[in-house]
Amino acid sequence: MKLNMSANGGSAAGGKKIITRFAPSPTGYLHVGGLRTALYNFLFAKNQGGKFLLRIEDTDQAREVKGSDKQIIDILNKLGIKFDNSPIYQSKRLKTYQKYADQLIKNNGAYFCFCTPERLEEMRETQKQNKQAPKYDKTCCKLSDQEIKDNLDKKMPFVIRLNVPKDKTIKWDDLIREEVEFNSNDIDDQVLIKSDGFPTYHLANVIDDHEMEISHVLRGEEWLSSTPKHLLLYEAFDWEPPQFAHQSLLLNPDKSKLSKRQGDVSVQDYLDKGYLPESLINFLTTIGWTEESGSEQEVYNLKQLIEKFDIKRLGKSGAIFNLEKLDWLNGWYIRQMKLDDLIKLCQPYLKEIKDKELIAKIVKIEQERLKKIADISENIDFLYKDIKYKAELLIWKKSNREETLENLVKTEDFLMTLTDNDFTQTETLEKKIITWIKKNDYGVGDILWPMRVALSGEQNSPSPFEIAWVLGKEKTIERINQAQKLLK
Ligand code: GLU
Repeated sequence: MKLNMSANGGSAAGGKKIITRFAPSPTGYLHVGGLRTALYNFLFAKNQGGKFLLRIEDTDQAREVKGSDKQIIDILNKLGIKFDNSPIYQSKRLKTYQKYADQLIKNNGAYFCFCTPERLEEMRETQKQNKQAPKYDKTCCKLSDQEIKDNLDKKMPFVIRLNVPKDKTIKWDDLIREEVEFNSNDIDDQVLIKSDGFPTYHLANVIDDHEMEISHVLRGEEWLSSTPKHLLLYEAFDWEPPQFAHQSLLLNPDKSKLSKRQGDVSVQDYLDKGYLPESLINFLTTIGWTEESGSEQEVYNLKQLIEKFDIKRLGKSGAIFNLEKLDWLNGWYIRQMKLDDLIKLCQPYLKEIKDKELIAKIVKIEQERLKKIADISENIDFLYKDIKYKAELLIWKKSNREETLENLVKTEDFLMTLTDNDFTQTETLEKKIITWIKKNDYGVGDILWPMRVALSGEQNSPSPFEIAWVLGKEKTIERINQAQKLLK
């Protein structure tokens, strides 16, 4: 029986249906590496007009974190990565795995193992002393049918193990790694059904990929050593295996494996900080994939990625998780946003400010500089709280205390001549002030530096025109006045 969600999948040019899947284990948060895997499977399927399915691999009850399946699904939906099925839960398919395990036992692809944990421990100890790799010694593979029957009748606990043949070369053409080869002597007789009757990852994964008619499995490099076991299972069942592609790992800039210690790895944490779905998708795709060699294009939306994605252009070497690049991309996407949309995204980070007009103004002047939405609440206190700073900060490097005071007085006098209306647009303010500076032959820095510091109290801040626009005429003049007092 085939699972029906794969019916009428898209077909590749050769006529074979293209079906990929994302198969997370619900053991916690969605890792950026997991998102990348989901993304590549999605992009590949959609590029080929195929289907992208979701399967929740929840057979390891001890490691399960309740609710994490829903969280993973929610995040992917939020990012626009849509599935073509309703999720399949492995824990609901235990009978199916049992049925196939029985079939494997009948055709010698697997066998009952009654070894006690103590015996296995002893065996491992001996192997360690003899400097051998830990591996089950096939003792139970030699049991007669009668012995097996007796043990089962006695209700002895058992597991079911994969019967790995000796001296066999197992190879496949990996779509990323090209030819990969393993010797069966290096492969353990993997447990397929545990003593509690639950299947292990290997058995359930292969059965489901077969039943869901998965044509391509794109997964992380860490699963490379599982693939020969899976291929042995496909052979034992006499099923055609899917095509495999093992993508490189995500690395820190120092080339170590991306880990929580060096920063966030949870997709939700990135979303919480205000990284936009568009930039996360763009970033995670393009750190391991290029459209063509020498291509300089860095910004792609999801639609473009679907159009252009080519599995063959995935890199073999590790993909560097370069936060600076993510920040750059995110800033780029923020700058393209409509102001009203950006205001909505920023509001949750500006709960302290009740004045809607002030929020809108703050967002407008910060849009150019923002790298992530959460930054909006940083360094903006000066726009709505009283400011404190040292008088020295007002003095432009080529100037002195007296000149600075003089320039602030001139600035105040000039600003007094402007109307409230002149303050309704930054551009108007900028034009008027610059024209006044030029007309009088003042130094731009001599006027604008003290003015900007008087308005912000900061070494670095938005331009004086932007701040004056946010503050309005009255507050602007009040702060320039306050600066003069500081210098006296
Ligand atoms: N459940 C596995 C995981 O958590 C699936 C690996 C695979 O794609 O085969 O990544």
